[in-house]
Amino acid sequence: MEKGFKVQIFPSEKQKELMFKSFGCARFAYNWALNKQNENYEKGGKFISDRELRKEFTQLKKKEEFKWLNEVNNNVTKQAIKDLCRAYKNFFNKKAKHPRFKSRKKSKMSFYNDTYQIKFDDYKVRLETIGWMDIAENIIPRDCKYQEPRISFDGIRFWLGINCVLKDEENNLPKTEAIGIDMGIKTLMTCSNGMNFKKVNTKREMKKLKRLQKKASRHYEMMKNKSFDIYKNYENKDYRYVNKSKNLLKLETLIRKQYQKIANIRLNNIHQATTKIIKLNPEAIVVEDLDVKGMMKNKYLSEKIADCSFYEIYRQLKYKCKKRGIQFITADKFYPSSKICSNCGNKKKSLSISERTYRCEYCGNIIDRDFNASLNLKNLAYN
Ligand SMILES: [Zn+2]
Repeated sequence: MEKGFKVQIFPSEKQKELMFKSFGCARFAYNWALNKQNENYEKGGKFISDRELRKEFTQLKKKEEFKWLNEVNNNVTKQAIKDLCRAYKNFFNKKAKHPRFKSRKKSKMSFYNDTYQIKFDDYKVRLETIGWMDIAENIIPRDCKYQEPRISFDGIRFWLGINCVLKDEENNLPKTEAIGIDMGIKTLMTCSNGMNFKKVNTKREMKKLKRLQKKASRHYEMMKNKSFDIYKNYENKDYRYVNKSKNLLKLETLIRKQYQKIANIRLNNIHQATTKIIKLNPEAIVVEDLDVKGMMKNKYLSEKIADCSFYEIYRQLKYKCKKRGIQFITADKFYPSSKICSNCGNKKKSLSISERTYRCEYCGNIIDRDFNASLNLKNLAYN
């Protein structure tokens, strides 16, 4: 996991001087590289790689008039050239605007510091070449990989921004009991630890979608009639040959957006649920084979939608388990998780879909059908 931090730092007067020099050199290198790229581009040349530019820059630094560039750390200018090349490449690939020259007055003053040289102590930080200085908060984690440390000046204060690559701490935490999960249409997930996750309510959004679709279908109807007039003499009387009106095109965009919105709400709901389960750090997660759910037949629309949800839940649980080092178990296709009594292990011969409560004729266990199934799935982890 990556986490960014930004903390105020307190350099001494001498260090400040060195920092301002670094800002200046970074800006110079950036502008120099931009100029090189521009000249090359105007001549019809392609993109110059940052390696090539850095080589040239090293030669430049050897000249007497550019000696001052050597007063700061080598990484400052190296990174500035890299930054420009990245920005230029984005422009080249039409992902960003043309990079602009950094002006002395307007541009943000910032420079890069070497990742491996940076060190932290209680309320202190050591920057390469610049040395130790006080830091406002003692919040930056130790013993992790650092990325992109950058020093900046906002006109008043100096800041250190840094990315920390943190280890997955959860992996070292003790594991909890395995969780069996039964997937359903209304209750998306029934878990063996008593947690339930319902389907998110999208009634309002669905209503809006239907209203838009109705409107659009009136347009299609009109187009159909129109095409009959236009293509009276043709055999193929298809409304597709009529140009869509501006309003219809707008409407179609709205429908697409509304679809996306509903899909996002659902996806978000599933993400929240699966994350909550994974955070418990169980030693295993057991789910049914997806084919079992597929056997329920797609008679109704709600089941069709549920089908996508099942697949998404399955997918998310699988990759989140992998990330956290949790065992992910899929029950055998023929494992009758609904028919077995989780209390005594007795197996019913038949159980209709409409029976929402499981009643064991052997031990008298009365239990919610889905919860019973989730307990059976959990038990698979210990078989
Ligand atoms: Zn029983």
